[in-house]
Amino acid sequence: MRSLRCEIVRAIRRFTVRTVLPAALAPLGELASNLRWSWHKPTRDLFESMDPAAWAAVHREPGALLGALSTERLEELAGDGAFVQRVEAAAADLAEYLRRPGWYAELGEGAPRAVAYFSMEFGITGALPQYSGGLGILAGDHLKSASDLGVPIVGVGLFYATGYFKQSLSRDGWQQETYPVLDPDGLPLALLREADGTPARITVDLPGGRTLAARIWKAQVGRVPLLLLDSDVEDNDDAARGITDRLYGGGGEHRLQQELLCGVGGVRALRAWSRLTGAPEPEVFHMNEGHAGFLGIERVREQVAGNGLTFDEALEAVRASTVFTTHTPVPAGIDRFGRDQIELYFGGGNELPGVPVQRVLALGAEDFPGGDPHVFNMAVMGLRMAQRANGVSQLHGAVSRGMFQGLWRGFDAPEVPIASITNGVHAPTWVAPEVVAMGRQYIGPQLLRSGEGFEKVDQVPDEEVWRTRRVLRARLVADARTRLKRSWLQRGASEAQLGWIKDVLDPDVLTIGFARRVPTYKRLTLMLRDPDRLKQLLLDPERPVQLVIAGKSHPADETGKRLIQQMVRFTDDPAVRHRIVFLPNYDITMALTLYPGCDVWLNNPLRPFEACGTSGMKAALNGGLNLSILDGWWDEWFDGANGWAIPTADGVDDPDHRDDIEAAALYDLVENSVAARFYDRDERGLPARWIEMVRHTLASLGPKVLANRMVQDYVQQLYVPAATSGRAALASGAAAAKDLAAWKGQLRTRWSGVHVDHVESTGVGDSPQVGDVVDVRAFVSLGELGADDVAVEVVHGRVSESDELTAAGVVPLVHAEAYEGGRHRFEGRLVLRQTGPFGYTVRILPRHAGLASPAELGLVVNA
Ligand SMILES: *Cc1c(COP(=O)(O)O)cnc(C)c1O
Repeated sequence: MRSLRCEIVRAIRRFTVRTVLPAALAPLGELASNLRWSWHKPTRDLFESMDPAAWAAVHREPGALLGALSTERLEELAGDGAFVQRVEAAAADLAEYLRRPGWYAELGEGAPRAVAYFSMEFGITGALPQYSGGLGILAGDHLKSASDLGVPIVGVGLFYATGYFKQSLSRDGWQQETYPVLDPDGLPLALLREADGTPARITVDLPGGRTLAARIWKAQVGRVPLLLLDSDVEDNDDAARGITDRLYGGGGEHRLQQELLCGVGGVRALRAWSRLTGAPEPEVFHMNEGHAGFLGIERVREQVAGNGLTFDEALEAVRASTVFTTHTPVPAGIDRFGRDQIELYFGGGNELPGVPVQRVLALGAEDFPGGDPHVFNMAVMGLRMAQRANGVSQLHGAVSRGMFQGLWRGFDAPEVPIASITNGVHAPTWVAPEVVAMGRQYIGPQLLRSGEGFEKVDQVPDEEVWRTRRVLRARLVADARTRLKRSWLQRGASEAQLGWIKDVLDPDVLTIGFARRVPTYKRLTLMLRDPDRLKQLLLDPERPVQLVIAGKSHPADETGKRLIQQMVRFTDDPAVRHRIVFLPNYDITMALTLYPGCDVWLNNPLRPFEACGTSGMKAALNGGLNLSILDGWWDEWFDGANGWAIPTADGVDDPDHRDDIEAAALYDLVENSVAARFYDRDERGLPARWIEMVRHTLASLGPKVLANRMVQDYVQQLYVPAATSGRAALASGAAAAKDLAAWKGQLRTRWSGVHVDHVESTGVGDSPQVGDVVDVRAFVSLGELGADDVAVEVVHGRVSESDELTAAGVVPLVHAEAYEGGRHRFEGRLVLRQTGPFGYTVRILPRHAGLASPAELGLVVNA
């Protein structure tokens, strides 16, 4: 039989006819195109009131709503004075929001005039599905908070024609992927245009003499523009048009081409943006993970071409103003390409002027113990391209310092220059309207704006807290039933077979949520370790538990799909299906109902692979309690009373055994602590001790988990210092960049002449005690280096029986005297402050005003 598909008539050209709004409603155009509506409920309410049924039908997307309304309806609304007034008020409110100076204005001239934020994913609203998971949502939240704070950031990424896939299930629970094509003309996007109205274009050279062209879409995120490059233009051959076809990470040539476009093309798009709009050129470039790392290569090229710098000088200028954020300790999360691929794209006829391919290759080389000599590693390149780098939680910072230690040979992990800034979430996006209303009524409007007042959460009466929690839970239950039914119809069930779905989940039962991507380390199926035990918990007659589960597996990850299938099969069992559901197609839209509706947010990754995790933060801001392995952010902020920690079997090597132990601990906690407390009701019928934990969660975590706090940390700890060193590097014809490059070159060749000759000390007798002072004199040889080129330090701390030193402190020694032959004496004084076995040593490090960290060159000489 011939497939039906062949008979479908295909359009030869598609376009979306834009609505012409009556003059009185013209401001709705701007209100729909500025994505601030995605975190501003009054604006959404305004659109909804135009036609509630149509609003639901277009999935609550303002632009689509305007397209769906008839001319008659629009004329009718234009004649409705009260509605027109509301439109004007909303437009005035948006204008005020865009004008308000914001926190950033207080920083003065030292702060960068503009910051470019590069990411391969941005999750801003369900209407713009350009993300696969946490990394993208974080990027979206970063832009939104930057907008709220007035940080002059510009986002740069790609526009994927089909976004990330939509997930559904086959009859037997296997993940199905579909890739519906997005029509950019129907989305809240505008093309960047030249003065004459033609679309702006950037180009990037491909191997074989091909050229990749891209147009530039702009999404407006409050005050923040987001530029998205799109290769689907007529100038391109078919293969090149397909480069931005879908978001599909992991490596391979297609991904390399995407990263080339994002990094190299992204810088060119920024230049076009500034040229066409007069926006200031960014002074700081932030790489959100290594995927965008090629931006550094393009900036080096610019400096070579525009400022006449050598490669090394340009690299110093670029490094000074680049910030790199690493997001994962999981190797599969880091893009690695073959060196031969990089040679193909950056060598031969494609070599960028002044950027020898060997130098590019060296930036991404895994030339450290355990590295693969054939591989080009994007995260490694990011770290070498950026003078400042960070992980995304304290624990992840520590893990990253260990993981990338090989790049700073000679230094112990704690001294590796990778800082940490813990992720946060954008509260106006993620806090349910009911919770916002409660906060506003009992605490005040400043709560979400500035994060002030969380400590006053005890002013909200118990009854109010509990009533609101139930409203949120009930909404989740309703949404879950709708989604489950849709899923079963898709899986081939008939309407008549689905009567049971109306009784799935219960708005008064303890609700635990688990939703995330499905890489192995997140352990979707840990809860299935002992299926009978789980069934008991679900079906407990007195204290039942219900579970709402969701998650997409990467399309190429068969293991992940098997885990989903295992989970779906468990949830299909008629004995438990009213208490446990798997909801297909986890995305922002689902998340907005899911997080607030759960009493408990479960996270059970294999420690320490969860770099941060943010879904638990979103749950917490809605009064959900976290039940989690002490990994990522939870390791940092769990305080013993704001949720529960699942004990980890860290030392157990056998993964199966480890899973058994941790799963057993999870069941015990759910039964004996979580459910026990949830169902412990007082004379008012309220779980007073539970409500107390909800309050404590909000008070202790509320101010910390905010993306505003995160963005302020980035600005103060990374953007301002990067702007300062970037400006210094480029001032006076890039004198400092030239000087630093020359100095590093010399230092590297002369370093072999550096030694600690001997160390003398006086002051400690046979039985030193706390408070004693040790005078230290270090005699060192510096060869051809000067005393100003180095720092000589005493490193002191506890020693083990084998004389291994655990560094606890550093005391700088000052230059005292120069002798002949490059020999010097440095002196200083060390005060003994600690009892017990103590030791010290002396070391020599490079020193230069242009270094952000003494470990930067990876060079050190120990006594
Ligand atoms: C917040 C969020 C994530 C990330 O959550 P993790 O805890 O990091 O797994 C993923 N997907 C969606 C839709 C989210 O909203």
